Amino acid sequence: MLETLEIKTKQTENSRLSSVDFENLSFGKYFSDHMLVADYANGKWQTCEIVPYGNFSLDPATSVLHYGQSIFEGIKAYKFADGTVSIFRPDKNWERFNKSAVRLEMPEVPEEIFLDGLKKLLDLDRGWVPGADGTSLYIRPFMFATEVALGVHPSVSYKFVIMTGPVGAYYSKPLKLKVETHYTRAAEGGVGFSKNAGNYALSLYPTKIANDEGFDQLMWTDAKEHKYIEEAGTANLVFRIGDTIITPHGDTILHGVTRRTIMELAEHFGYKAEQRKVSVQELIDGIENGTVLEAFAAGTAATITPISTIGYEGKLYELPPVAGREFSEKVLTYLNDLRYGRIADEFGWNFLV
Ligand SMILES: *Cc1c(COP(=O)(O)O)cnc(C)c1O
Repeated sequence: MLETLEIKTKQTENSRLSSVDFENLSFGKYFSDHMLVADYANGKWQTCEIVPYGNFSLDPATSVLHYGQSIFEGIKAYKFADGTVSIFRPDKNWERFNKSAVRLEMPEVPEEIFLDGLKKLLDLDRGWVPGADGTSLYIRPFMFATEVALGVHPSVSYKFVIMTGPVGAYYSKPLKLKVETHYTRAAEGGVGFSKNAGNYALSLYPTKIANDEGFDQLMWTDAKEHKYIEEAGTANLVFRIGDTIITPHGDTILHGVTRRTIMELAEHFGYKAEQRKVSVQELIDGIENGTVLEAFAAGTAATITPISTIGYEGKLYELPPVAGREFSEKVLTYLNDLRYGRIADEFGWNFLV
């Protein structure tokens, strides 16, 4: 399909790299010199280019601004001690991106644009990949509807973009989560499994209420009964009950690459790994009788963020101390060693640029 679609590169003449304070990287503050931009129209991908990072100009009637056809991904690339740049499991993000695209009636993005294009972009901006422990290059692929017209219908044109930027060590203060028993993030048959912009917009108001009550984030529950645990706002949830590692499952949650990686590692390390429904009651009972040993949020941004406290119906439940959480520490150490190239890549998760 794409034999004729060559990815052209227009290099910047004014690199901003020297203005980056690599000692003080936070999240989402710096953007690398280049971005990849591909345009879809008339039923196919027309162009794909790597160009200097910069603005788009949009007509006020651009369809995404009104009807929200917009999806994205989050991926990280790391630098080994020898300078090799490695992207962590981007094939899984590509697959998920296309599942999101199908659900939002958007075109799928071919491997040549998403994965080959990403490699080409990182090859050009490899100087932007930081090397210090805990740092990485955050990669944000996204696609939005560009048809200029009002009226609800699938757009006839789309823009796919990959932007990147160096990010710092994520300070993982243990989380205090509130079990949400009124508002809903996703219902069965809906779009909860897709990484589409609307899922985040609808989470802001209930999350703000929880923040005002002193919680860091929400623990979403099922839309029907508010009885089963789903996920946190931008991360999946993983629990260790006895020697079993458990994560909720279903189409109302985002199927995280980090979550999947952790479940694969759980089996590798000899734990039992289960994807199943977890009721709030099972969790609360487990905390009270001491069988819930570990709980954390899992996602690309934070990898593993321990949960210290769960609030449910006005009561606070404290989890075991963060120090000494055996499984969490084992996974985190393994993943850091793998991502920075310090151990053999036995699962084939590192995509070298
Ligand atoms: C991105 C995201 C996750 C985590 O997915 P990863 O692939 O591990 O980064 C979990 N939940 C939601 C809602 C997300 O948007």
